[in-house]
Amino acid sequence: MNHLELSQRLATVGEFVPAKARLADIGSDHAYLPVALMLKGKIEFAVAGEVVKGPFESAQKQVRKDGLEERIVVRLANGLAAIEPSDEINAITIAGMGGALIRDILEAGKTRLNQKERLILQPNIGERTLRVWLQENQYQIIEEVILEENKKIYEIIVAEKAASPVSYSPEDLMFGPILRQMKSDIFQVKWQRELAQREAIVQQMIEANKGDKISERQQKFETEIKQIQEVLG
Ligand code: SAM
Repeated sequence: MNHLELSQRLATVGEFVPAKARLADIGSDHAYLPVALMLKGKIEFAVAGEVVKGPFESAQKQVRKDGLEERIVVRLANGLAAIEPSDEINAITIAGMGGALIRDILEAGKTRLNQKERLILQPNIGERTLRVWLQENQYQIIEEVILEENKKIYEIIVAEKAASPVSYSPEDLMFGPILRQMKSDIFQVKWQRELAQREAIVQQMIEANKGDKISERQQKFETEIKQIQEVLG
């Protein structure tokens, strides 16, 4: 095979991988992303890391099927433990997981980062948690994309190590420093949905507590409702 069709979500992740990259794709079920990018001639070398045996074997099978064993190494490993210094990785993709899990993978594997890698992250949920980690670890968000596929909305966050500390506002962390400036149609759909969810929860809380003191949880939701209303204008 000389071509592998990716979902729009994974293809967009792939667009942010620099040309001629040495890529580590962590959580690489079927190794679809590294295989597709290799077949397109976009990357030079890749590590496909998987922690679960089934997906690891699927990744091995896909790489073998396309005759790419010399240039894509499939490793059974937890998170960034799949990366060896001699791999000279300069791009890491972690896609299709929760933001907290991606954060945990980055935190646990910090010592394996050479700081020169571009991080291309696609959390399914928990984007704020991930942005907080990036800020705390001096990564600058250089690109963000929001897209919809099969009725699901996905965000992609691209970050690189900054020369000095980075500081994001609470709104940047919640909505994305770039996404909240662009305010695309899909962004508005996502946050209209999030607003409606929070309003329904707060309404239930009001009905349940019948004049008791407002809980911290309710206060948190009410603050978020205001933030969302502001960003939606
Ligand atoms: N990255 C692909 C994508 O976006 O389509 C696959 C996403 S799949 C939902 C998540 C994959 O990450 C699973 O195959 C799972 O086994 C793997 N995974 C979860 N935690 C991991 C970890 N700590 N290290 C490596 N792989 C992990």
